[in-house]
Amino acid sequence: MTEPEDPSREQLKQHFAQRVTHQARHILEIWQRLQSSQWNTADRDELANANLRLLRHAERFEQPEHVRLAQIIGQALQAVDDNQGRLSSDSISELNRLMQQLSRTGLRQGDHLEQTRLPPLPKPVYVVLQDNVGAERLARQLEFFGVGAQALGSTHAFLASMAERYPAAIVMDVDFGGQGVGLQLAAQAQEGLGQKLPLLFFSLPDADTPTRLAAVRAGGQEFLTGTLETSSLLEKIESLTCVTQYDPFKVLIVDDSRTQARHTERILNSAGVMTRTLFEPLQAMTELADFQPDLIILDMYMPACTGTELAKVIRHNDRYVSVPIIYLSAEDNLDKQLDAMSEGGDDFLTKPIKPRHLITTVRNRAARARHLKSRMVRDSLTGLYNHTHILQLLEDCSLRARREGKPLSFAMLDIDHFKKVNDCHGHPMGDRVIKSLALFLKQRLRKTDYIGRYGGEEFAIVMPDTPLAAAHNVLDEIRQRFAEIQYPAQGTDLSCTFSAGVVELNDDSDALLLAAQADEALYRAKHLGRNRVHALP
Ligand code: GH3
Ligand code: MG
Ligand code: MG
Repeated sequence: MTEPEDPSREQLKQHFAQRVTHQARHILEIWQRLQSSQWNTADRDELANANLRLLRHAERFEQPEHVRLAQIIGQALQAVDDNQGRLSSDSISELNRLMQQLSRTGLRQGDHLEQTRLPPLPKPVYVVLQDNVGAERLARQLEFFGVGAQALGSTHAFLASMAERYPAAIVMDVDFGGQGVGLQLAAQAQEGLGQKLPLLFFSLPDADTPTRLAAVRAGGQEFLTGTLETSSLLEKIESLTCVTQYDPFKVLIVDDSRTQARHTERILNSAGVMTRTLFEPLQAMTELADFQPDLIILDMYMPACTGTELAKVIRHNDRYVSVPIIYLSAEDNLDKQLDAMSEGGDDFLTKPIKPRHLITTVRNRAARARHLKSRMVRDSLTGLYNHTHILQLLEDCSLRARREGKPLSFAMLDIDHFKKVNDCHGHPMGDRVIKSLALFLKQRLRKTDYIGRYGGEEFAIVMPDTPLAAAHNVLDEIRQRFAEIQYPAQGTDLSCTFSAGVVELNDDSDALLLAAQADEALYRAKHLGRNRVHALP
């Protein structure tokens, strides 16, 4: 009889090292909770303890990047303690930055550092669709992008899997097993659970309001119709399962009273909201451009100008037409409040404000504004930023890079011979290639990079804090990997390449010039034979 082989030391190490990523994920979940609650000492202790465990695991399993991060997170938490246990805008920003790094830090495998991969979801996603073949395909695609998924083809299989292990999320067809049966099945599976599982409902035909209402009542957090798109589904799953970090809301407070402003700041900071305060209303426009708040709180009566006047000035600029404005005042005359709201404001809070009232109002307004904005600035096919917005981001990032003396790179990509793809395989296949490149870029680039769809099969990427050589290397790596993807097509499988031009911001260029230079570099890449990344110094 032969002895079973011992797993290699390396494999064992890898196995235990998973605990490090699980601990990292736990920390991210605690931090994420701030989104819906208020910071208190219990949260602080839980976070600090989880971080200590991360540090211990990371040291034991030799994950230097995690050791480093756990140490800095420890210092940031110490800074909060030194501030009487209160979160400040700076500590929120610092902790959030560290959390984002943590979410991107992969395990060390040999000498190869996987920088871009998120810690894997510890549990699979259950995919339960009427269309079994479609479910299998979807599960495979999710796996390809690093999300474990299981297609379950019968009620029995679903219930058995649920009994064995709770998933990270459920994607459920409302009509699975009969009309509306999927709704009941999902509701039944959630019964008695302390914490509800992330649940996404799907309906092939567009659903009527009663069905959508039933889905909400059954605990559904998302409702998808039509074709199930891997990239948008992935995004939804990630946001529901806390894989992606949340960006703290940013609020600009304009108030001439320091006491009132501090009070407002303190309440909002305790809810994980970042703030910036202006005592001088006339500086508001500069501050707006720099801080890019999700919401503005204006004092009604200030010496230099009134809140309503300032609101009108802010609304003059197209970019800020939809940023919510909340007035703060001791005014409790309803008529005057209504007048103020017709002058560009969205809500009115009377002093003294109740903390809960303020937090809830700010969170709701800011979340809705973000949601609307994301619809305005995103391209519908790929979910990437649209042409106008990516240029706007390039401008913002250039100004910031210049001010902070940091490098910035900008790239333009264009798929090679794309017309042939359309001609030989049809337009829908072309769309699929565009979407998959979009998804590929999102997966492989850093969360701090901005990716836009510049036009048809052209993409633009803003890479803050990145020198030209580094940008070139990253894009070239992506180029090689992308070329390896085989798309199943009739006849032979299809593969595609892209060309890219990349440039770096220097002292006498600006966003417009940068865009023109990147275009020029792309043209050279095409001219030199395509399937290459060309850097223009
Ligand atoms: P090159 O290597 O020089 O870039 O060649 P190309 O064929 O990729 O370039 P060209 O710009 O001549 O053609 C781009 C084609 O992309 C033309 C257009 O029909 C197609 N296209 C643009 N937008 C879309 C889209 O959203 N979906 C699909 N399927 N095709 C698109
Ligand atoms: Mg083109
Ligand atoms: Mg092209």
